[in-house]
Amino acid sequence: MSTRAEVLRELGQQQEPWDVLVIGGGATGLGAAVEAASRGYRTLLVERSDFAKGTSSRSTKLVHGGVRYLEQLNLTLVTDALRERGHMLRNAPHLVHDQQFVLPAYSYASLPYYGFGLKVYELLSGKLSFGRSEMLSAKGTLERLPGLIGDGLRGGILYHDGQFDDTRYAISLLRTLQDLGGVAINYVEAVALLQSGGRTIGITARDLEGDATFDLRAKVVINACGVFAEDTLAMEHEKHEAMLSVSQGTHFVLPRSFMAGTTALMIPKTADGRVLFAIPWHGSTIVGTTDVAVDRASAEPRALGSEKKFILDHIERYFGHRPAAGEILSVWSGLRPLVKKAGVKTSQLSRDHTIVVSPTGVVTITGGKWTTYRRMGQDTINRAGEVAALPKAPSRTLELKIHGWTMDSAGAASDWERVYGSDVPHLHALSAENAGLDALLHPRLPFRAREVVWAVRHEMARTVEDILARRTRALFLDARAAMEAAPAVADLLARELNRSDAWKAKDLADFLEVAAGYVYQE
Ligand SMILES: Cc1cc2nc3c(=O)[nH]c(=O)nc-3n(C[C@H](O)[C@H](O)[C@H](O)COP(=O)(O)OP(=O)(O)OC[C@H]3O[C@@H](n4cnc5c(N)ncnc54)[C@H](O)[C@@H]3O)c2cc1C
Repeated sequence: MSTRAEVLRELGQQQEPWDVLVIGGGATGLGAAVEAASRGYRTLLVERSDFAKGTSSRSTKLVHGGVRYLEQLNLTLVTDALRERGHMLRNAPHLVHDQQFVLPAYSYASLPYYGFGLKVYELLSGKLSFGRSEMLSAKGTLERLPGLIGDGLRGGILYHDGQFDDTRYAISLLRTLQDLGGVAINYVEAVALLQSGGRTIGITARDLEGDATFDLRAKVVINACGVFAEDTLAMEHEKHEAMLSVSQGTHFVLPRSFMAGTTALMIPKTADGRVLFAIPWHGSTIVGTTDVAVDRASAEPRALGSEKKFILDHIERYFGHRPAAGEILSVWSGLRPLVKKAGVKTSQLSRDHTIVVSPTGVVTITGGKWTTYRRMGQDTINRAGEVAALPKAPSRTLELKIHGWTMDSAGAASDWERVYGSDVPHLHALSAENAGLDALLHPRLPFRAREVVWAVRHEMARTVEDILARRTRALFLDARAAMEAAPAVADLLARELNRSDAWKAKDLADFLEVAAGYVYQE
């Protein structure tokens, strides 16, 4: 793999326009770039922060059709997403797995209602079903979910859905793009659109590490900037039509002991009429999420007091115990880019995606879900191909294996290591060469020093945050432990990248400032 400096030099020397230039390295941008490169188009992706720094690292980690959208009778969205779910499992079995959920019922009337709904959910997935749904007695429900309040419990319904690691999937998409000959670079921002004869013919980009500015030409530019998509549209025309509503969702992470067992809990109706999950993930329990309209998009959204109270109230209602501040290991929030509709609450806005072509030919893709990233990429590149009159090429991503694909995870020493798939032996080889790299970064975290070195050498990690938030998931699993592990990570990173002590100290301080926002505050 080329170093970042080599990629930048190559970009500076390119004379020929790229076929497809994607702005934004979240699920949507990476999905579109993989789609383009797999059709044989010369493809470049620029990301101004790190890959998946935005919404794509802050999901509930579900690969799902969306039981909630079934209740809204959005059958097309559910069926399409269930199909994508099945293909994500087939194409990335190292990153996606079947997760059993139990929906507890506290009234006899709700049992057949939810039982029927979840049977329909199962049937809609057809041949790509993850498993059969089942009615459970109250005793069976408590066996699956020990700790759940048993008073008034009438029974439950067991059903199957998918779970994944969102940033590991994003990094595997990055590697897939590179395997296909595409180019991607992080910490490069699109600062302006290049225009000629009323058409967009590329972007002006700035290297945020070196501060150089340069032009990148392309036959078509794709705007996959998530909640920042309107800023890109404003580069073309300051007075573009408002397109997005931004809605925030927050999660808490609790110790695994909080919800023993391997089954996840699905609460079908919260106080505000949504669903809430408590899900085992990498040895902890994620609880979320909320849905609150916010006025402004930001790179590091913070949980609101009302969201924290909402999650705590529901944990107490279902588990009879309100976690103390010290028990909450991490708190994170993400922003949904939803397509606006006058007079409709964000929780009721559609999770379908929307593609808009601007007057100068910029293709904006927004909305959707992580689960539908591939379909969004396919639709976007179909449209981009028309805009730029690219040679027609069929989509082949439905069956495209994602980097690391393997059906044999036996080599992985832990649940965490599975995410590296077929790269696991290469990781192990690092610590065979240097036993020091076998050391855990922190006694409460499953990550080892070798993952830091691997992330720098093979996954374009540039900062302590890239490593602790997205190459490993330390910050999302246990913010205090991540802060304690950070100095050792900064040492390893600075050595690998040949950085000065001053750079190392600043990068560490930057991380600690961001990480403090993931520590629960009353
Ligand atoms: C709380 C929450 C829970 C969710 N849970 C689930 C779930 O369980 N399952 C599911 O399927 N979906 C879920 N979703 C939805 C899913 O996470 C999003 O649909 C998806 O991540 C959006 O990806 P994106 O690439 O469009 O946006 P982002 O991930 O935000 O990516 C946009 C990128 O563009 C970059 N960018 C912006 N401007 C520029 C510029 N000028 N130059 C270069 N780069 C730029 C940003 O830095 C950012 O990285 C959830 C969403 C939220 C908020």
